[in-house]
Order: sequence, then structure tokens, then C-alpha cells
Amino acid sequence: MDLFSNIEQEEESRKNKLGHADIEYVKSVGILTQAKGFMESYDYTLNPYSGCSFGCNYCYAAFFARSTEQKDNWGKWVKVKDNALQLLIKWRKKPLIDKTIYISSVTDPYQPIEKELELTRSILNELVNYHKPRLVIQTRSPLITRDIDLLTKFDVVQVNMTVTTDSEDVRKAFEPICPSNKSRLKAIQEVTASGIQTCITMTPLLPLQNPNEFVKELLNTGVKKFIVQPFHPEKGKFVASTRELAIEQMKKMNWNESKYNEAVEVFRKELPWLGEGKQGFAPI
Ligand code: SF4
Repeated sequence: MDLFSNIEQEEESRKNKLGHADIEYVKSVGILTQAKGFMESYDYTLNPYSGCSFGCNYCYAAFFARSTEQKDNWGKWVKVKDNALQLLIKWRKKPLIDKTIYISSVTDPYQPIEKELELTRSILNELVNYHKPRLVIQTRSPLITRDIDLLTKFDVVQVNMTVTTDSEDVRKAFEPICPSNKSRLKAIQEVTASGIQTCITMTPLLPLQNPNEFVKELLNTGVKKFIVQPFHPEKGKFVASTRELAIEQMKKMNWNESKYNEAVEVFRKELPWLGEGKQGFAPI
């Protein structure tokens, strides 16, 4: 059997469905996007996938989907940027050593399909061997621990783990497909213990059971850096995106601005470093 038959066979055996999500393999025109708006303090954002099978019901990224159908079905489709690595290899001529890159702004680089495809892993491997940029990786998946071996090779890297609440009921109401809060805290503890700079992003902060107990859980991970941002029910620039389902859930849970402010007061007092909103996301 020749090499091309092998590749064709491999491509045919790839999954077109994973759990509830349709998986499509696409050729992208580029892999690095000039960062702007909320992410403007970075040079580039890098999204190995478009769409996200975690499908959080407040996800702002849904509003960047190309069609109404994609927006309406957010969480049920993923497009794999099949040529992401090849596109990145072209950047070897212009190394990204002094650049700041944020992975990822409109998808989760460690969503379930990544476990099989190792696309994000291949990108990290390329970046560490040919570029060594300043890197921030944002995820809510414990799968990040798989890549600790690569992450420790970067000179400047930060892993951001999103943890939005201390309540599994709240997590299930807003992020039913996502890994549990405990598994995320355990994962970021492991990343931190490996010596990598870490941060827990409570973005958006969802209703809490007990802010004081939550702070203890956060500190137990060993993480020293935290970012908080409110859930925005109103129409606005960045937040125009908050989806109806999430707004309904929030109303039911009786979480409001004053409860958010009370929780943030506890964070300001107890956490060693707290970034708030856009400024908190600035590169390391
Ligand atoms: S994990 Fe992130 S990108 Fe994916 S649906 Fe949730 S908020 Fe959106």
C-alpha cells in the first residue's frame, strides 16, 4: 500500500460525529489572526478549531459563527482546521519568538475531539521547536495535563483554566457538557505543580454557593493568579453575545450585581492577585 492510500484510509476512518457534535474537516486560509478588540493586547490569536462542542449556553464565541444556523446550533458542530499545522509551518521563515499568542479566543483547544486528533498538541510542538512565543492557553478541560511535557519547554507560558462557579448544579445549568468543577481544579493544580505559570479565570462568574469556601478551594490548587468578570445580561459591545437561555437561567437563580460585588470583595481580600475584566487578560 502506498503512502497516499494510507493517508486516504486514515482520513476516511476519522470521526464525523463525536457525542452530540458533528465533526467536519476543513482547510483554513490562515492559522494566526491579528488580535483585536478584547484581545488587542496580544499579537495573535490561534484557534485550531472553529465551533466548540462544550457548547456553554452563555458563550460569546457563538456570535462569531458565520451563519444563523451555526449560531443556533452552537455546541453541536466543530470544524477541525485540518491544515493548521501546515499553515503554521509556513511561519518558520518568520519566527514568532517576540510575539504574544492567545490559544484560543473562539473555541476550546482541549475540547473532546482534541483527545483523538492531537491537533493542539501538534501546534504546541511546532511553536516550542521553531518559535517559542509568549503563550497563553485558555481552556476548561483537564486534557491540558496531557501536554505538560511540551508546556514546560516554553520560556514564557501561562495556562488559564476557566472555573465559573463552586456549584455543580449551576455548572450543569450553564455548561452541561463541560468537565466538572472539581476535575478542572484538580487539573490546574497538576499544571501548577509542574512549575508552569497558571491562572484561574472566573469568566463569567456564575452564581456561587459560598464565596468564602470557594476561595479556599481556589487557593488549594496552588494557583496565584485569578481573573474575574461578570455575566452580562444586557446588550452591549462584547456582551451582545450572551444567549437567551443563559439569561433565563440567571434570572431563575436570583444572582445579581450586588451578589457579584460581594463575591468580588471576598476575592480582592483573599486572593493574591486578581485581574478584573479586559485588563486581567493582558499578556504575561
Ligand atoms: S468552552 Fe469556551 S468556546 Fe467552548 S462553548 Fe464554552 S465558552 Fe464557548
